[in-house]
Amino acid sequence: MKFSLILAAGGSGQRFEKSLKKKKQRYPGFSRSSSAYPSKLFYPLAGKPVLIRTLETFLTFSEITEVLVVVPKEIRAQMTHLLQGYASKKLKVMGGGKTRAESVWNGLKASDRAVDWVLVHDAARPLIERDVIRRLIAWAKRTKQNSCITAKRVVPTIKEVNSKNKIVRTVDRRVLAEAETPQLVRRTALMRAYRQNKQAFSATDEAMLMESIGENPEVLIHETWNPKITTPEDFLMAEKMIQNQSSCMRMGFGSDTHRLVAGRKFYLGGICIPAPFGPLGHSDGDALLHAVVDGILGAMGSGDIGEWFSDRDKKYKNMKSSKFVLDVRDHLRQSGWGIGNLDCVVHLEEPKLGAYKTKMKTSIARLLQIAESKINIKAKTFEGLGEGGKAEAVKCETIVTLVQGGAS
Ligand code: MG
Repeated sequence: MKFSLILAAGGSGQRFEKSLKKKKQRYPGFSRSSSAYPSKLFYPLAGKPVLIRTLETFLTFSEITEVLVVVPKEIRAQMTHLLQGYASKKLKVMGGGKTRAESVWNGLKASDRAVDWVLVHDAARPLIERDVIRRLIAWAKRTKQNSCITAKRVVPTIKEVNSKNKIVRTVDRRVLAEAETPQLVRRTALMRAYRQNKQAFSATDEAMLMESIGENPEVLIHETWNPKITTPEDFLMAEKMIQNQSSCMRMGFGSDTHRLVAGRKFYLGGICIPAPFGPLGHSDGDALLHAVVDGILGAMGSGDIGEWFSDRDKKYKNMKSSKFVLDVRDHLRQSGWGIGNLDCVVHLEEPKLGAYKTKMKTSIARLLQIAESKINIKAKTFEGLGEGGKAEAVKCETIVTLVQGGAS
């Protein structure tokens, strides 16, 4: 099943430009002169032009075999230039019409006759989520109907108001939906709607055209944020949204070394390993747990283990290191972040750790209350080199990733 994508970029974005010129001092984010960009679709949104952001989300679908970008004729050359790197897909840039519907018609006429479905999307909706497109395509594959649009439930109370600014009535919002794009229509059905409707070019979306030929398009209600960027405020909000999404992972690195001396118990990863020596330390000297704590604190930007549990504080003398892990775990929980995964390396000449790796993993998983599958432990020797090579030290390193909301 083949899909054609028509990106409606026909609007000239006059409101956006006007607003920008008028209130330029209020938008410090727009440091470059607006004249540097032919339209709002060229503005770098979190580092990438609006139109490219929109396009890239759709290009991840193999079902979409053709893309038609419809732009005002004046900026066609610049758009072609912007899209140079995307020529591998069947991509065409064409001039639009006076209205949105006329622009879509230009795209439709130029579309491949072999495609089954046409997806129409506003180029100025760059936050469209892949899952919404996926659901539309899945719907197309199982339906006998001709059209489906994406929409949101209407939350505000809506009033019908007359020309004298008097409320006539309150509209029942339960029967309302706010139409968005993408909108999906069978290619032949959309062609028919354009041909049968004499006022086709004044329709404001594809669903309206389908309604005009007696169809009732299906509505796919979704909850994702898919705003049309109309004003500079919309642009800045969209930028914040993208920046938040891209900072939804953090990473920390932890490292700790302890001298090994005779007569100390050998704690590592929260378990006690049989050995005639153990790590010297103010606490129990568990170098692996210390590196875990430092990794988590690092990822959170919360300093290091020494700042949290000073080795000059008597309170922590001979303290079990598992207590440090529990305290840091609580701190992590309160922050709303959770552990994505934890990778550990233990450098130790002897004893050999093969038999204890699983036990250490279980112990750390319990302390952090995360799945064991999120933890990996690797054991290395020092290859006989230096003090470590003489079994006089243990060194541990960890990498921790944190994800937002991933509490377990
Ligand atoms: Mg330590």
